[in-house]
Amino acid sequence: MAGVPGTSPAGRLDAVLATRIADQKRRRRYRQRRTLTRGGVHVRLDGRERLAFCSNDYLGLADDPRLAEAMAEGARRYGSGSGASALISGYRTPHEALEGRLAEWTGRRRALLFTSGYQANQGVLSVLAGRGDHVVHDRLNHASLLDATRLAGARLHRYLHADCDAARDLLARLAGGGRRLLVSDGVFSMGGDCADVAALARIAGDHAASLVIDDAHGLGVLGESGAGVLQAQGMSAAQVPVLIGTLGKALGTEGAFVAGSDTLIEALTQFSRAWIYTTSPSPALAHATLAALDIVRDEPERRAHLEALIGHFRREAKALTGDRARLLPSGTPIQPLIIGNGDEATLLAVAQGLEEDGLWCGAIRPPTVPAGSARLRITLSAAHDFDDIDRLLTALQARLPSIRETPHA
Ligand SMILES: *Cc1c(COP(=O)(O)O)cnc(C)c1O
Repeated sequence: MAGVPGTSPAGRLDAVLATRIADQKRRRRYRQRRTLTRGGVHVRLDGRERLAFCSNDYLGLADDPRLAEAMAEGARRYGSGSGASALISGYRTPHEALEGRLAEWTGRRRALLFTSGYQANQGVLSVLAGRGDHVVHDRLNHASLLDATRLAGARLHRYLHADCDAARDLLARLAGGGRRLLVSDGVFSMGGDCADVAALARIAGDHAASLVIDDAHGLGVLGESGAGVLQAQGMSAAQVPVLIGTLGKALGTEGAFVAGSDTLIEALTQFSRAWIYTTSPSPALAHATLAALDIVRDEPERRAHLEALIGHFRREAKALTGDRARLLPSGTPIQPLIIGNGDEATLLAVAQGLEEDGLWCGAIRPPTVPAGSARLRITLSAAHDFDDIDRLLTALQARLPSIRETPHA
């Protein structure tokens, strides 16, 4: 009897999935997409305008009319799609130009475009490590780096977040042969704190490991010309041979890249299955990303304004902390506020309250963050102004629970 759960093969499949979904709901980890009818920082959601503090569009470029125009112009010139993988016939002049610009911007010999950061991490780690090799991670590295290591079949090791001594001990204890990679987010995606890249580079050097930095959240935001955490910390390409960056965050478009030596990029084009067997990104998108890089270069005031907003938020948010909430240390646009005891129920109640006040912040729960550290992931953007930040602070002041009210879910 088709359609009755548990009787047909399709019904059995659904029954198994429904059990998992019910469990997800019971644990308050059920997630839902929201359909926006307008983006930017003043989003439209369920027919109402809300002031958003949850995107990764740190420079406010994703809805910049100049990028929309560049994308339209790119589509008129090059068409909407690339039509093939890069090695067949999908590699077009804007792709080549963009790779050149990204290499120059990050101070590296070459760069290679990928469709997404998730794919780039898989594409690079699978070439640099495999069975019998060791990949050492910060415990809070992005999920795509962990998944990439597992898919590569390499041994996955994790050290306590930001604990360089633990990283050193871990590498020192690795027995036998095999290649060694030390991998870290540049800016941690859910904490906003930066890796100590100089320390990691020393450790990698001392233990014959190659350092890989995924700077998805630092590029466009940190450093003199926005070239990211490596520029901000004065790190050279020799110290960090593999840099991964994404284009869907501060750059306001979509896609990712790996930057490094001629040989690294050459090897990826020969051996990276995640890069070889996929359609090359749209050339119109590459054309738009070139325009985004122009804006990042020509409008440093965006970064300066963002930095001023971050300073203002942190100074004023001090009044909110204590029993009610804990603001984690972060000098980047990612400002994590752990609510009460860090449980899911309290977080969701606060997020709901903020929404009633016309504000929208990301409510991040396990497994994206460790259990007991569910948080508001407040992200600031150059498109915000000081009044926006004050509105958020006022609402937080009213909505944060006193610790006694915290339900223990
Ligand atoms: C967002 C993110 C990615 C994934 O990039 P996409 O282009 O969104 O697939 C990879 N690494 C880190 C650290 C990220 O924050």
